[in-house]
Amino acid sequence: MVEKLQAEWDNDLFTQVQQQFENAAQKLSLDENIFNRLRVPDKALLVSVPFRLDDGSIRVVSGYRVHHNDTLGPYKGGIRYHEKVNLGEVAALAMLMTWKCALVNLPLGGAKGGIQIDPNPLSRNEIQRMTRRFTSEINNFIGPDVDIPAPDMGTNEQVMAWMMDTYSQIHGYAIPEIVTGKPVIIGGSLGRSKATGRGVVYCILEALKAMHQTLDTQTTVAIQGYGNVGSAAAEELAGLGARVFAVSDVTTGIYHEEGLDLNKVQSWIQKNRFLEGFPEAQSISNEELLQLQVKILIPAAAEDVITKEIAQNLKCEMIAEGANGPITLEADKVINDREDIFVIPDVLANAGGVIVSYFEWIQGLQNFFWKEVEVNQRMNEIISHAFQTIYQFSQDKKVTMRMAALMLGIDKISRAMLTRGFFPG
Ligand code: NAD
Repeated sequence: MVEKLQAEWDNDLFTQVQQQFENAAQKLSLDENIFNRLRVPDKALLVSVPFRLDDGSIRVVSGYRVHHNDTLGPYKGGIRYHEKVNLGEVAALAMLMTWKCALVNLPLGGAKGGIQIDPNPLSRNEIQRMTRRFTSEINNFIGPDVDIPAPDMGTNEQVMAWMMDTYSQIHGYAIPEIVTGKPVIIGGSLGRSKATGRGVVYCILEALKAMHQTLDTQTTVAIQGYGNVGSAAAEELAGLGARVFAVSDVTTGIYHEEGLDLNKVQSWIQKNRFLEGFPEAQSISNEELLQLQVKILIPAAAEDVITKEIAQNLKCEMIAEGANGPITLEADKVINDREDIFVIPDVLANAGGVIVSYFEWIQGLQNFFWKEVEVNQRMNEIISHAFQTIYQFSQDKKVTMRMAALMLGIDKISRAMLTRGFFPG
């Protein structure tokens, strides 16, 4: 019997992720008790976060942390600052983290958190005060052996540094292992800041290999979202010889028919924060970017951007999901029916971030730090092996890459749960 438990976190993204889980569970003939447990998170914390603005007034915003499942190890997942963050979105992303960690064989579970605010208008000091108060509000819910946050959309390594410092001040000694994705100077890992984007590219290289193709100057790319994930993927691909035709951010998209000069784009962003006004390219909308005629499309911004209508007009050959949940359920169906676009699903494509977060966590626990080349090589081995396993499984079972990835991840959790047994029995 399917329990009706999800009302409080019921929203579009949660329904989409839960539906994906249910489809995979059906194909796996998943144990009914495991099914009912995994389709909802373990627990959730909702906090009100009061913080002082620079004008002296106090603003109160909503903060969230959701634990989905910790059968394989401590909860792990990012913290997002975005005006649309809500309990359902965070719960959905926590569920995806559970499958992702299992899929790439990390001894970690799935969590996610965030604050419902647009951080762009806030000053650095305001973001710092909000982050510190949020950390103190969730202090009892996180811990280096319990739940380890990381950056996500709207947060960065500076935010992680403030979280680490606040948690350490509360507990009375330095606890760098409480977060990952922090600056190298306070125990971050070399290679972490670019890990998610690099992992996307390692998956693209594996996909091309599976199609008996290679990456060269004829490989054209469009990337939605020029933040942590998108800019690192762009840089890596350009370094390998591909031509990045278009990138975008929340303000605009920019396009150049011979390929963008990424050094110039990067310097512009450093000076101006946003792409708007970049002089040496044509400006296009985010919707137009998604429908460009390119070989590889990388959505690396928000969820649900590829709708059914956009899916019908896609002209790319491959989609590598840097973002979580960029394709709606309906659009996914359209793309599967078209059979001319190879999709590398989010749980695999963007797993490079959590893999190197795991490296950072264990380096911190051991106080023994690795060289960047070692970090990149080990991440490449793990993500490429995961790609090959999923690809083979998808071929053998005649299912999509997304279905194969979900089935393998969910099956692993299910076997672990059955092995651990049920408490209190
Ligand atoms: P970020 O905040 O560094 O960058 C996000 C980029 O997307 C910015 O350029 C922003 O302007 C743009 N953007 C935001 N909303 C947009 C919209 N509606 N349309 C177009 N552009 C928009 O965030 P990030 O860390 O790069 O994360 C991007 C995605 O990747 C998210 O879905 C996140 O969950 C996922 N992800 C990130 C990591 C990581 O390590 N940072 C790991 C795994 C998955």
